[in-house]
Amino acid sequence: MNDIPQTLAQMKNRGRRLIGCFPLYPPLELLHSFGLTPVVLWGMNGSVQNYDSSDRHLQNYTCRVARGLTGFIIDQAAGLFDALFMYNACDTLRNLPEIIATEVELPMLRLHVPALPEERTGAKGYLQDRIRSLVKDLEQFTRRPFSADAFMASTALYRKQRALCRSLDTLCAAGGIPFARAAEVLQSAHVLGVEDHIAVLEHELAHPPSPARTPGARVMASGIQAPPATLMEVMDDSGITVAANDIATLARSYADCPPAQPDPSGYYCDFYFRHYPCSTMLPAGDRRIEVLMQRVRDSDIRGFIFFGEKFCEYEYLEFPHLQDRMKDRGVATLFLEIGAEDLANLMPMKTRIEAFAEMLGH
Ligand code: SF4
Repeated sequence: MNDIPQTLAQMKNRGRRLIGCFPLYPPLELLHSFGLTPVVLWGMNGSVQNYDSSDRHLQNYTCRVARGLTGFIIDQAAGLFDALFMYNACDTLRNLPEIIATEVELPMLRLHVPALPEERTGAKGYLQDRIRSLVKDLEQFTRRPFSADAFMASTALYRKQRALCRSLDTLCAAGGIPFARAAEVLQSAHVLGVEDHIAVLEHELAHPPSPARTPGARVMASGIQAPPATLMEVMDDSGITVAANDIATLARSYADCPPAQPDPSGYYCDFYFRHYPCSTMLPAGDRRIEVLMQRVRDSDIRGFIFFGEKFCEYEYLEFPHLQDRMKDRGVATLFLEIGAEDLANLMPMKTRIEAFAEMLGH
C-alpha cells in the first residue's frame, strides 16, 4: 500500500478497468455497477517525485492535496487509468479537468453537484438530472446498459465496507488497534477495489494487533487527510486514544450510507444532500458544528487535534468558530498546519503533539 502506482498497476494487470476519481466523494457504487474499479486520488504526495508538473499549472500556494493530485495525474495517469471522473468541489480544483486535458488524453466523466440545500427550488431536480446524464455517459463509455440489479449489488458491497470501517473505528476508540494502523487500513479503501478492501478489513478486525493498548486521553482528530504516519505514531506513543475521527479521507467518507434503492438519481440525492457534514460540501457544512459537538459529547472527548491542510480555505474558515465552541465545552485544541513542503520536517509537530498529550494527561 506504500507504493500506490505499483498497487494500481497490479490491479490493472489483473484486468481491472480503473477510473481515477476526485475529489473525495464520487458515486462509487454507480461506477462499480458498470464494471469499473473506482480509485479515489487523494493523498498522492508520496507518489510524485516532485511538484514540477503541478507547478506548471497551479500556484505553489495551493494545498498539497491539489498539488499531489495534479502532479500524479499529469505524470502517471495515462498508463494506469481507462478514464477519469470529477465532480465540482473547491475553487482550487474547479478548472482541473481543463488543465488536465492540456496534458493527458483520457476520457473525463463529470458530474455537477449543486452547492445548495435540498429544499432550495430546483436543487433536487437538477442533481437527479445530472445523475441521469452521468448514467448515459457511463453507458456510452462502457458500452453496456445500466442495470438496477448490478447497482443494488454494488450499493450492498459499499454498505458492508462502510460498516466494517466504522467497526474498525470503534476498535481504535477502545484501544484495540493503534490509530496509525487503523488509518492506514481505512485509507487503503481509496486505492483498492471494494471487494479487496472488505477482505482487508475483515482480516484486520479478526486479527487485531495484540496486546490491546490501555486507552489514554480521548481525542478527536480532524482534517482533510489523516496526518503523515510519523505523526500518528507519535500520537499512539504519547498515550493518545483517537476516540473519534472527523477526517475527510476517513470517517467523513464512511460515516453514513443512504438507504438502498434501484434508482441512482434518488440514491445520490440522499448521498450528496444528506452526507456526513464536510466543509468541502457547502450545504452539508451548515450542520457540521452541531454534529461535531454531539460527537464530542457522545465519545467523551477531552482534546481536539486539527490537521489543517495549508491553503484550504474551506477548513480554515470554520476552525476559529469550532475552536471557540470546543473551549466552551472545556475541550483542549491543537491546530497543526501541513503543506507540501512541511513533510520534510515534521519534528516541530511531533514535539507539539507530545506536549499536548502531556497536558491532557495532567
Ligand atoms: S484540501 Fe481544500 S483546497 Fe485542497 S482540494 Fe481539498 S477542499 Fe480544495
